[in-house]
Amino acid sequence: MISSHVRMEFAPERTAKVNNLLQQIEKKVFAGQRLTKEEGLALMECKDLLFLGRLAREIKLRHSGRKIFFNVNFHINLTNICVSECRFCAFGVRKESGKAYFMTLEDILQKIAKSLPESATELHIVSGLHPDQPFDYYLEVIDTLHRRYPGIHLKAFTAVEINYFAEISGLSIREVLLKLKHAGLGSMPGGGAEVFSPRIRGMLCPGKATGERWLEIMETAHDLGIRTNATMLFGHLETNEERIDHLISLRDLQDKTGGFQSFVPLAFHPENTSLSEIKPVSAYEKLKMIAVSRLMLDNFDHIKAYWVMLGVSLAQIALEFGADDLDGTVVKEKITHAAGAKTKEGISMDELLELIFSAGYLPVERDTLYHELKIFRKRDCQCCPE
Ligand code: SF4
Repeated sequence: MISSHVRMEFAPERTAKVNNLLQQIEKKVFAGQRLTKEEGLALMECKDLLFLGRLAREIKLRHSGRKIFFNVNFHINLTNICVSECRFCAFGVRKESGKAYFMTLEDILQKIAKSLPESATELHIVSGLHPDQPFDYYLEVIDTLHRRYPGIHLKAFTAVEINYFAEISGLSIREVLLKLKHAGLGSMPGGGAEVFSPRIRGMLCPGKATGERWLEIMETAHDLGIRTNATMLFGHLETNEERIDHLISLRDLQDKTGGFQSFVPLAFHPENTSLSEIKPVSAYEKLKMIAVSRLMLDNFDHIKAYWVMLGVSLAQIALEFGADDLDGTVVKEKITHAAGAKTKEGISMDELLELIFSAGYLPVERDTLYHELKIFRKRDCQCCPE
């Protein structure tokens, strides 16, 4: 049962009511029942991180047992030139900026030929919204990469990029997605979701696809058999209620389509953005958000602790708070690092294995669609001799 010292961050008169709610939540979690918005808000207000972690871990074990997933991928960002000017973004720049870059198809092929790890199974491609490049450029990139590297899964373009491609080409969302799928697009990342609240989007990114549009694009992708991820960027101007509403919108769409593979809670990095006065998200808050996501998104199989954003140590602890996926042995990540992430830009397979083994879990290399490629034993890890 819930301990009598579960801590809350609100006035004492509310404590009894929320304590009752937390008791009810605990019972529901162990009975495998869905949590309501009110219960989600009580979780956000609860200060007892270990209580949240214990419940979230229960759900994680139900979904994936002691397995922790990762893949070997390579990130490529075709351009940082972007028309959107989102206030939270440290990556996108104007065309005139001295930091602006754009990769031609030739540049892309050269870079991949030079840096793609031999064991990579995925290319992760996201970029700015370039003012001049036509949709045909992106189609050609996918088509060429698919032909050149038929064994590599192409996970590319956020819903925001897909929306932009529809705008610049005059095609419908469905037509854009179909053309990309025929060219070789395998799945889509979950970026661009930020927080769906129109209030927040109005303040932070009024020029880009709305939350409703993001969800509509994902629904269309799922309908076409394109699996996607989902994200939430938290820790800027949003309220707890806006976070919970965001999670419930994702859960509702997942009930309808089943097309989301994983959810990635992304902590906002304020450095080098126009919101640099905001305090960076604390480790406590990051772990809480992972746990609450695991508890609210009962129909998502996987919750990612994106180590590039969390750092390796916190990502390891996140495994005790409901996360079951560490993303990739990412090579070259630009977007989070532009916003001041102090983490490494890549992690070796051995480091990742050691991180998972030493937390008492079983590392599983997966492909993008979560087919298990290899379950590792300790003898496979140079860092952890048996
Ligand atoms: S978040 Fe994406 S759309 Fe917004 S400015 Fe950055 S690169 Fe552009």
